[in-house]
Order: sequence, then structure tokens, then C-alpha cells
Amino acid sequence: MSIVVLDLEWNGAYCKKVNGYFNEIIEIGAVRLADDLTVAERFDAVIRPRVSRKLTHWVTDLTGYTDEQVKAGISFLDAMERLQRFIGEGGATLLTWSTTDLLVLMENCRYYYGDERIPSVTGYLDLQAYAQTRLELGTKQQIGLAKFAELLGMNSDDLALHHAIDDSVLSAAILRRVYHRPSFEAAVRSLDDEFYRRLTFKPTIVKELNDPAVDRKKFVFTCPDCGKRLKETGKWRFFHNQFNSTLQCGVCNTLYHGRVQVRLTYDGPVTKRRLAPKKEKQPEEA
Ligand SMILES: [Zn+2]
Repeated sequence: MSIVVLDLEWNGAYCKKVNGYFNEIIEIGAVRLADDLTVAERFDAVIRPRVSRKLTHWVTDLTGYTDEQVKAGISFLDAMERLQRFIGEGGATLLTWSTTDLLVLMENCRYYYGDERIPSVTGYLDLQAYAQTRLELGTKQQIGLAKFAELLGMNSDDLALHHAIDDSVLSAAILRRVYHRPSFEAAVRSLDDEFYRRLTFKPTIVKELNDPAVDRKKFVFTCPDCGKRLKETGKWRFFHNQFNSTLQCGVCNTLYHGRVQVRLTYDGPVTKRRLAPKKEKQPEEA
């Protein structure tokens, strides 16, 4: 099983067939790594767009590609066939800097093959999340590739950033710096049906109190001062993406603003609760 680090460039276009916005890939760059994680082989394919022949100014500025340059490229299906040969019979674990590139590759596979699964790829690791975790930076804020290289004190000046092949070379260099075998192997996900379902699942916020995902026990708060159960002074009302109510302690008389948000995720409902003293209309001391 080899490790392939992949990066894409794409052009945004309105697409009649999908009746909406489509991220059309115009370049696939990838490197296959040797056992010591150095670059064993490079893959680069410029792809002739089909949905929109015209690159947006934004894409031209970012990548430096012109309409003529991508027009001289190969088709997406040709590029994918070459990529599969590059990956080889044994399959590969795919690494991308954030899941965005993976999602765009899936989007293009869905468009051309009618199936979003990526051929020849059996495992996946989000290198951005892994690298940020390794440096104990958390994953809440996503750090761009060039910025991350800078954090590591790496010199990326001689790479033409925002060409897919150079970004994949730089991503591989970052992997070498942060790699730790046990944590890497634990972080690789198997690219099975469940992985695809999870990745494409869109979490929603529950807006109705009688929704089966709502657990009314989660709406029970206790007084931070005396530990008694707070009483609701009115109904729970949904606004600002959460349920809100004013609660009062029967012992201390303090008024609180209770907030409960229920998100329906792939793994089931996730409830977030917050309680804060209400600033206005503080009752008189008893
Ligand atoms: Zn109290």
C-alpha cells in the first residue's frame, strides 16, 4: 500500500446538468511516496474543462492558467485513468490538505462516472487535520498550506504555489516533518461506503421542540449557586439557531437565560447547553 499526496485546482462554473454550481477540476497533481516518505514519483495532469471553457478571473489570478493552457489539456476521464496507473495495482492511501480537495474530486467523479467513489483509493487521511493535531494547534481553525509551511520554518519560495503538483510536493514535505507512525496509522480512514456517507452527510439544526431528536431532559438546568432545579418562566422559543428560555431559581430568585441547541449529525443528535445569568430585570434581594 503506497501513500499518494494529491492536490487539485478547479474552476467554478454554473452547470445545467447539476442545476447549480460545479467545481470543475482543471489540474490534478500528486506525488507517490517512498517508504522513507520522500517523493518517489510525480503525477501532473492539466485537464480540459468541459462544463465551462472560461476560467474565472479569480482562478486565472490564483493559478496563472489561461483558457488556452487548459484547453490544451487532457480529458478528466483520461487523467483519472492515468492517475489509476500511477497509483498502481496495490491501491493507495490518499492524503489531501483538508477534505475540500477530496470532496471536489468526489464531485467530479459523481459527474463523470455517476459514482462519487474514487477509483484505486482505499484509505484517506486529512493531512491538514493530522498536521495541526500533531502541532497541537487544534482543528477548529484551518491553516492554509503555505501558512503552515511558514509555521514550520520551511522555505516554499522556489515552489510555484497554487499549481497542484507543487502543492502536493509541499504537502509531502510537511508530512515528513510531522509524521509519527502510530498516530498516522491510527488517523488513516478506510474509504468504505460508511466513510462516503459520513463525509457527505449535512448536519442540520433542529427547530421544533417536538422533533424526535430533542431530548427534553437536556432542557433541565440547575442553579449554579444552590443546585436546585431552575423553573422555566416561559416557553422555550426557537431563535438564533437555538431554543431559548428564561429560568429562575426558586431559592435564590436569580434569573437565567437558558440556551439549548440540538444538531442532528451523522452520529445522532448533539445537544449544546448554555446557562448565563440574565443581566436585566434582576429581582430584589429577598
Ligand atoms: Zn439557587
